[in-house]
Amino acid sequence: MALPRTAEHDNETSRHEPGEALVVADTRIRTVSVIDADAVLGDLSKKLSGLGYHVVDGRFAEPPEDCVAVIMNIAMDPDLVLTRSLAQKHRIVLIAENRDFDFRLQAARAGVEAVLWSPLDLVDLGAWLADFDDAEKEAYTILIVDDDELAAETYALTLEAAGMHVHVVTDATLATEAVGQVMPDLVLMDLQMPGASGLEIARVIRQSRQHLSLPIVFLSAERDPERQHMARKVGGDDFIVKPVNLENLAGLVGIRAERAQALRQVMERDSLTGLLNHARFKDRLAAEFERSRRTQSPLAVCLLDLDHFKRVNDTYGHQAGDRVLQTLAHSLAGALRRTDVVARYGGEEFAILLLDTPVEDAFRVMEKIRTGFGNIVFDSESGPYSVTLSVGICNDLDAVSTESMVRRADEALYAAKRNGRNQVKVADRE
Ligand code: GH3
Ligand code: MG
Ligand code: MG
Repeated sequence: MALPRTAEHDNETSRHEPGEALVVADTRIRTVSVIDADAVLGDLSKKLSGLGYHVVDGRFAEPPEDCVAVIMNIAMDPDLVLTRSLAQKHRIVLIAENRDFDFRLQAARAGVEAVLWSPLDLVDLGAWLADFDDAEKEAYTILIVDDDELAAETYALTLEAAGMHVHVVTDATLATEAVGQVMPDLVLMDLQMPGASGLEIARVIRQSRQHLSLPIVFLSAERDPERQHMARKVGGDDFIVKPVNLENLAGLVGIRAERAQALRQVMERDSLTGLLNHARFKDRLAAEFERSRRTQSPLAVCLLDLDHFKRVNDTYGHQAGDRVLQTLAHSLAGALRRTDVVARYGGEEFAILLLDTPVEDAFRVMEKIRTGFGNIVFDSESGPYSVTLSVGICNDLDAVSTESMVRRADEALYAAKRNGRNQVKVADRE
C-alpha cells in the first residue's frame, strides 16, 4: 500500500490512501485577503469566488496565516507602509494606477511580487493567484518502490526535506496500482526486489500509454553495464548506484521530475487554458473507468458547455471570448481537487472527471461551479457582462463503457440546454 507519509498530508483532501473512499467535495479553502474600498470589494469578491477563492475583508481582519495572497489597492496604502509589513508574511498583489518605473521599484522594494492595473484583468489575477497557490500544488510527487523499508524511509525523508511529496511502496507487486493512484511525477525504484524485479515492474507500468513518459529512476547496487542497458531499454531514465549519495538524491530526482513535467505540459495540455487536451482526457477516462469498475468506486463524467458563447464572441470579440475561456479554466482549477481531471474537450466545451464521487456530490460541485462562474462580471468597453454555463453529468456504476458515459453526459447536457440553459442535469439511468 502506498502510504501518504506524514500527517500533514492527510488534511489535504486530494491525498488519500489508495482504495479508501474520498470525502468529496470541498477542496481546501483558498482564502484571499482583499484590502480595498467598499465599492470595489463586492464586485471583486464575486469575481474571486467565481475563481474558487474565499475572500476576507483585509481592512478589518489580519490576513489568515495560510491565505494565498493579499490583494491591496494602492489607494488604501499610498505609502506602502502596511504593504511592506504584510509582505513579510504574505504574497502581495498590488492594484495600482501608476505605471512609472519609480513606483514599481518602490513596490518591489516593499516586497510586492505582482502589480495589476485597473481595470483589473481577471485572467492575470487568476494566473497570479494560481502561481502563488502552487507552492504546494507543484511540489513533485515521488513514488518510492523499495522492499528495504529502512532504505525507502531514508530516501523519503531526504526528498521530503526538499519539499517533495513522497509515497512509499515496499511490496513490488503493488507498485503499478500505486502509480495509478498516486499519479507520481517520478518513480524511484529498487532494481532488486522479491516478487518482481524493478525491470519487470517498469515494463508493466509502461504497458499503459498514459505512463509512457513517466520517469523511472532505478536504484541499484548493480554496476553491470549490461543490466543497466537493459534497464534503460524498458524506459528507466536513470540509474542511481547504491549506496545512494543522499546529498545528490533530491537534486537528481528534482531535475528529472521537472523535465518530465515540462514535457508533459506541452504534450498534454491545451495552450489557451493549460487544461488537459481531448486526447489525454480520453486516456484518463479509460484508466479511471477501469479503476472505478474494479474498485466499485463511483466516477462522475461531467460535460460543461458555455451558454450562447457565440454571442460573446460576436458582441465583445474573439479575444474577449478567449479571456472568458481562460477565466473558466482558472475557475475550474480553483473549485476542484487536484486529483480531479479537467480538460478542454472542444472549443467552448470542457470535460471533468470527478473521482470517487457519488452523483449527489458531483451535482453539488458542478452547481457550485455554475453559480460561481455565472456571478463573475466581465468588464468590456460596452459595459459589464456575465456568461452562464450548462452541465451534463453521468455517474453510473452500471455503465458499460466510457463511450456510453460520455454519450449520456452529453445527452444530459443537451437536456440542460433545451431546458433553458444555466443549469446542471444528471443523466437518466440507462
Ligand atoms: P449554446 O448555448 O447552445 O452552447 O450556444 P453557443 O453559442 O455556445 O454554441 P455554438 O456551438 O453555436 O457556438 C460555439 C462558439 O464557441 C462558436 C465558436 O466561435 C466559439 N469558440 C470555440 N472555440 C473558441 C475559442 O477558442 N475562442 C473563442 N473566443 N471562441 C471559441
Ligand atoms: Mg531490494
Ligand atoms: Mg455553447
